[in-house]
Amino acid sequence: MGEFDLIERYFSRPSKRAALGVGDDCALLAIRPGHELAISTDMLVCGRHFLSDVAPAALGWKSLAVNLSDLAAMGAEPMAFTLALALPAADEDWLEAFSDGLYDCAARYACELVGGDTTSGPLNICIAVYGEVPLRTAVRRAGAKVGDDIWVSGELGSAALGLRVRQGAVVLPDEAHQQAINALERPIPRLALGRDLRGIATAMIDISDGLASDLGHILAASRVAGRVSVDAVPQSQFLSRQPEALRLYCLLAGGDDYELCFTAPPDLQEAVQRAGREAGVALARIGMIEAGRGLEFENSGGTPYRFPTGTNLGGFDHFG
Ligand code: ADP
Ligand code: MG
Repeated sequence: MGEFDLIERYFSRPSKRAALGVGDDCALLAIRPGHELAISTDMLVCGRHFLSDVAPAALGWKSLAVNLSDLAAMGAEPMAFTLALALPAADEDWLEAFSDGLYDCAARYACELVGGDTTSGPLNICIAVYGEVPLRTAVRRAGAKVGDDIWVSGELGSAALGLRVRQGAVVLPDEAHQQAINALERPIPRLALGRDLRGIATAMIDISDGLASDLGHILAASRVAGRVSVDAVPQSQFLSRQPEALRLYCLLAGGDDYELCFTAPPDLQEAVQRAGREAGVALARIGMIEAGRGLEFENSGGTPYRFPTGTNLGGFDHFG
């Protein structure tokens, strides 16, 4: 199978929304008047972002989902994506499953594959997504204000625990096992929530590197400090039963969650909760923005959190 057969067979499903999809030198997209184009790209490298034995269908899903998560974090709505793919070999079973997983995610979130590039080489998947957001409504990292609440969607830490399950370092009972693996391999981009938070959230980011790191980006960009109550950070039941150091690492620094972390003024708590209900996502208020710099974790009593010795929060400079 040659390069062009491969593209034709696995990556050329027709597009409906794009003015021109796969097959020419460029794809063409029409953008509605009064909107800005939101663009993001994420590369997934074998051995670094995924294990070489991951199921190809899950890999196809996740490759697009992590890119869509960036659109969600700006409040943008997906339009189209391109796929640059380096493949060690044209393995038909692998390609079939990978492209099915990819198109599953694309169909679920109405994002069309409109082009890309295909070469041989060590397995590497690079996707660029294009989204649309009404003029001047995109939610940036830099807008958090002193007095704002800090919120997160969903539960944190399950994906990081799932990675340890995949690596054989942690064993979970059946149902929890599947939930942790799904969190790792089938992340859900919070697109509806991100869109509904336009005009409500003052700053927003998706949690790809762990809460401590990603909330740290909001704080730095907004030039403010944050105080987070560790016990308010939502976690799964199975994570709550893990040894304390592992639990805290997964919860606060584990990464790969693809939940949204955002800030909003306290007088908009009702509007925030409504956005969560409409998007069907649980939201938790985990802390507050204050004057100053840096991120502090506290107990429910308001005293600094005493992390057990051996807690590895990943060497983020917040813990310097
Ligand atoms: P060019 O040489 O003009 O860049 P290519 O020969 O690389 O074009 O690709 C031919 C067509 O197939 C283009 O429309 C390109 O966008 C598309 N394409 C190539 N690889 C992929 C891929 N992995 N997924 C989707 N479309 C692809
Ligand atoms: Mg060309």
